[in-house]
Amino acid sequence: MTPGRDEATPYPAPFLFTHSHQTCMNDHQKTFGVVPGLNMGLFAPDDLKRIIDIINRYEVPMTKITSAQRLALLGMDTNEQKQLLTELTPLLRPQPDNGVNYVQACPGNQWCKYGVSDSLKLGAELEKLSFDEPLPAKVKIGVAGCRMCCTEARVRDIGVIAGKKGWTLIFGGNGGNNARIGDVVAEGLTDEQVISLIRKCLDYYRHNARRTMRTARFMEINGIEKLKQAVLDSI
Ligand code: SF4
Repeated sequence: MTPGRDEATPYPAPFLFTHSHQTCMNDHQKTFGVVPGLNMGLFAPDDLKRIIDIINRYEVPMTKITSAQRLALLGMDTNEQKQLLTELTPLLRPQPDNGVNYVQACPGNQWCKYGVSDSLKLGAELEKLSFDEPLPAKVKIGVAGCRMCCTEARVRDIGVIAGKKGWTLIFGGNGGNNARIGDVVAEGLTDEQVISLIRKCLDYYRHNARRTMRTARFMEINGIEKLKQAVLDSI
């Protein structure tokens, strides 16, 4: 049976209200943007219609889907942005205060013929991660439902890639100017094991990295073996 939207995935849910909503997006032109998150790129058509209605009424100069699977509404002056936000805010839910910048996930085995695991289900669980104290720097997560790795999980702070024997966990990747492919922490993991191990890796990172240090730079100094010794004892 082909899964329907509701039975297949607990999403789409309302848009996330991301932390970057009040950023001056263009310092040169002094224009502002609003960046609602899309919960791993998923949306309900009715939610999107309501946002498009707002975009049209405010004649937002530029709208874009970002590489992080979010919407970007760009090019407003500060008053337009504030008014738009008052209308948009009731449609959004706050981003969890967990230090995770975003979770990208591909369609996975529910919707893609190559998928071997349910990346949307795992991604939804990872969006709920929470920590008692802030992480040292932003953390981006990519979840891929097969080795083709459409979510670029090997260059995310945390990458999770499905294989026939379970999930592979990657830590310390970065796709920026100083790019780095992350290190493999463990393979053949269940959903529960990979979530638990991600929490341990992030706790270790939180306790040992200095503030603002991204996972890639931390791993260059720290090394994968130390991380493994710290987190692999009890999975
Ligand atoms: S990573 Fe694999 S399962 Fe996910 S969208 Fe790409 S091909 Fe499909």
